[in-house]
Amino acid sequence: MSGGTGYLFKDAINLALAHVKHVHFTSGEYIVADTSCIQCNTKLGWKYLYAFRDYNARKVGMFCLCRADLLTYKEKKTRKQKLRRKNQSVKAQFRIVPW
Ligand SMILES: [Zn+2]
Repeated sequence: MSGGTGYLFKDAINLALAHVKHVHFTSGEYIVADTSCIQCNTKLGWKYLYAFRDYNARKVGMFCLCRADLLTYKEKKTRKQKLRRKNQSVKAQFRIVPW
């Protein structure tokens, strides 16, 4: 988790859960599990496993994920295009020139 804004998600996939811990946030006290990407291991946030205050109960089972570490479909597409353009220019640099 690289800091920045966190968003609540009802569900998330391709995440691994680890390190169950007792935390004190400004909104209250919780038991959470750290979550990370199963592919690149980036820490993305946590899953709420238990809330000590009734008014926080709606968060239980939800994921808080850092927005900066996630891509929207549009961002993913743009990133792929940029990467493709970059790869093309690298290829151009190493183009084999005939004698
Ligand atoms: Zn990843």
